[in-house]
Parts: sequence; C-alpha cells; structure tokens
Amino acid sequence: MSRGRSDDAVFDRPTEKCGVVGVSLADRDAALPTYYALYALQHRGQESAGIVTHDGFQQHQHVGMGLVGDAFDEDDVEALRGNAGIGHVRYPTAGSVDKSCAQPFSVSFKGGALGLSHNGNLVNADEVRARLADQGHAFTSDGDTEVIAHDLARNLLEADLVPAVERTMNRIHGSYSLTITHDDTVLGVRDPLGNRPLVLGELEDGYVLASESAAIDTFGGDLVRDVRPGELVVLHEDGAGYDSHQLVEEPNTAHCFFEYVYFARPDSVVDEELVYEVRRELGRHLWREAGVDSDVVMPVPDSGRAFASGYAEQAQDAGSGVEFAEGLMKNRYVGRTFIMPTQSARERAVRLKLNPIRSTVEGRSVTLVDDSIVRGTTSSQLVDLLREAGANEVHVRIGAPPITAPCYMGIDMATRDELIAADRSTEEIADEIGADSLSYLPLDAVTAAIGKSEADLCAGCVTGEYPFDVAGEESDRDAERPDVDAPADD
Ligand code: SF4
Repeated sequence: MSRGRSDDAVFDRPTEKCGVVGVSLADRDAALPTYYALYALQHRGQESAGIVTHDGFQQHQHVGMGLVGDAFDEDDVEALRGNAGIGHVRYPTAGSVDKSCAQPFSVSFKGGALGLSHNGNLVNADEVRARLADQGHAFTSDGDTEVIAHDLARNLLEADLVPAVERTMNRIHGSYSLTITHDDTVLGVRDPLGNRPLVLGELEDGYVLASESAAIDTFGGDLVRDVRPGELVVLHEDGAGYDSHQLVEEPNTAHCFFEYVYFARPDSVVDEELVYEVRRELGRHLWREAGVDSDVVMPVPDSGRAFASGYAEQAQDAGSGVEFAEGLMKNRYVGRTFIMPTQSARERAVRLKLNPIRSTVEGRSVTLVDDSIVRGTTSSQLVDLLREAGANEVHVRIGAPPITAPCYMGIDMATRDELIAADRSTEEIADEIGADSLSYLPLDAVTAAIGKSEADLCAGCVTGEYPFDVAGEESDRDAERPDVDAPADD
C-alpha cells in the first residue's frame, strides 16, 4: 500500500506524520466539525481516519482505513453523539498498517473512558510499554499511542486529571501533540520541546484544538494561539472556555523546521509564522545565497511554488531578467492508489504526474526550485524531463539544507543508506541527478527565514544532532530520558 500524501506516493518526499483534532461545543454534536477538520488535515495522514466522541454518558468511536471520505459515511458521523470529540488522520510511523493501529485509540477503565489521538513518536515507548506490561496491562496494538493511553489511564486511577497528565508527560520521551477525551472533557497536550504543532482556536459556541490552524479556518473559527510546549489545555465541557496548565518547562523548544519547509499547509500558521510567507522568505534567501542567472525559474509543483515565487521576486529585485513561469504541469488525478511495484513503474508515475510545458522550457536555461531532495530519484527524472523538452541548462535550487540523517520523531525520511546526501558532496549529487548546478540553502539562512534561533528548532535530519536522547545518535541538548521505573509519585 502506498503511504503518505498522494504526491509522496509518487515523488521522493519525506512523509509527514499525523493530524489531530479536539472539539468541545456548547450544545451540538462535535462529530461533524471534527470530520471537516480532518478533511483540512488530510495531507498529514492518509492511511486511516477516526473520531471518538463522548455524550456525557457513553463514548462512541468510528475508525476506518483510507482517506477521510473513505473511512466515514454520513451514518457513521451521525452515530457519533456528544459535544466532546477528537479526531485523527494517520500516517503510521510506529506500529502496523492496519485498523488495530487506527486512531483515536479508546479505552474504558475504572476511572472512565479515554480517547487519545497522537501526532509524534515516542523514543522510549518500548520501555514504558514493558513497565506497564509488568504491571498487568495488556496491549492490543504495537503502536506508541496505546502506551500513552494506558499510562494515563493508570495515573487517572491514582490522581486527578492535571497531575495524572503531568505524571505521564514525565514518563514518556519524544515528540507528541495529543488530543484526548476523558469522558466528555477534551484535552490538548504538547510535548515539552514543542516538536509537533498544536493550535487552539475559538468557535462561536466552543473551542477547538488542531495540528494546524487551517483546520480551524474550515469552520470559520479564530486562531487563539499555539498550545505552548509542555502545556496542557483543558477545554470546558460547556464550550465556554479553557484552562491552561504549564506542566513541563524546558529552556528551549525544538520545533520541527520541516513543518515550515514541507509538511504543514502553506495557509497554516505554525508557531506564530504563516507557512506560506516562510516559504517565500526561504526562496528569497535562496536567491541571495545561491542565485543563478537563467532565463526562467519554475517550481516543482506544488511543493516548490512558494519558494520559487520568493526566489524569482528577489532575483527581479536584484535586476535579474529571469522570468517566473510554470514549466511542469501536474496531473491531479494520479493519486495514492496508483500501483508502483517496480522502479520503472515509479519512474513512469513521475511522468504521469508531471509533464513539461515545452514553450516555457525549449531552448532556455531553467532554474528548478523545490523544498528538499531525499533519495534523489525524482530530481533526476525531473531534470531528464526538462532536458527532453529542450532545456539548454537545468539548475536545481533547494530551499533547505541536504538531508543527511533519519528522523526519529516520526517523519519518514528514509534510512541513512537511502539518503542521497548522506555520503555525497553537493557536486556529486548534481552529477548524479544530471543538473548543471545544484545548491541548497544553509541552515542559518533557514532559521533566519523562519525567524527562530537554531537553538529553538529541531534540525536533526540535516545536522545528525537530535533534541531528544536517541540511542546511538548525538544529541544537541541535555534532554535526558526519563526513568520509567521511577515510582509514579516521584
Ligand atoms: S529530524 Fe527533521 S523531520 Fe524530524 S522532527 Fe527534526 S527537523 Fe523535523
């Protein structure tokens, strides 16, 4: 089965993780708004989708495989009663690719009912799972979300809601943005380094939590703010407000810089920055750092579009006569179901997905702009396509540094062996993809464009130094793994 967003299935892309939603409304069912919000987050996961609601008496759940539109029909949404709801779209980063790992995860226990949606990846899930198994917990999946749910359920038997969440946060280690229902109370939790995004929005009759602000826009809500790293937000059951609890504080954050580069929607605001504007700014920096005079600059659609427009704007401001044009036309109907059993089928898929506009390309020097190169397979095919369409020169400009290391926070970056930049110089990569020249944007220019210091961003996949303590890898800070064997009340 293909994985990730439809372009990821065809192109050589890092694949994003999951999308989460939480909704608490005054006096209408939360399921329909949650369903619409999941549509807005579809790019964050396409393997499965699900919603859990609670009506004050009973928890309801529906999960299904595939896109949101495949996983639910009207009756499924109608059956999910209750003013409190959470939702999830999933790309599996830990655990199997089947319905047993579809989220939200739900569990009923002596202390009530829990529903839990997770975006992120725990790096100590096995240790926490083993400890809980020793204490008698039985697991139905191999995913890390169930580990969080069991740990929280256990803590809720011994403590009130806020200290119970705090205990769980002190035990789990890794990246997590969570939306949770505990009976009909909706919670949002963000990991202490804020690696994954989570925002809070206000509706006319309630509040919403979501991975990206674009989901809040879908129901005409207003973005209130980002959920802070290490914060628990508790939405009131009557939809009239929320409480904030800062449970863990770290001196620095570790926001994933790739959210700005590729994962998040351009129309989303992530940690106070509009993603589209960040991408245009990355494009401007790219011209300043590595601009090349050519006849035309064009994006790889759709991922390179904002970068290319910023690049061209900066070039024209600097007096270059470069034209900004679309040179590759996208076939929107080649989707995730396209069967690609062999390398030649995958190569054909790129040609089915993108076709050059010969008049823009023929007899001209072309600069092709994109956000990243993972394995390099797509880049070389795109260069070939442009040359076949008559380009005299093809220069490739990338709005991020070379990806040299895997991601342990759940993004599928491929293994180190598969990454084209892991053991090659930029010149060697240019040769391999057949480009006349290739330049990447250095990390300091990326941080400048994002407007955050390097100390507040995760850039592990380009530096090989991670903000979490990952076995066998370097860490760029002192974040130590929690002692999972410590007594719960420590
Ligand atoms: S390693 Fe890369 S993709 Fe993974 S969280 Fe860090 S910046 Fe994001």
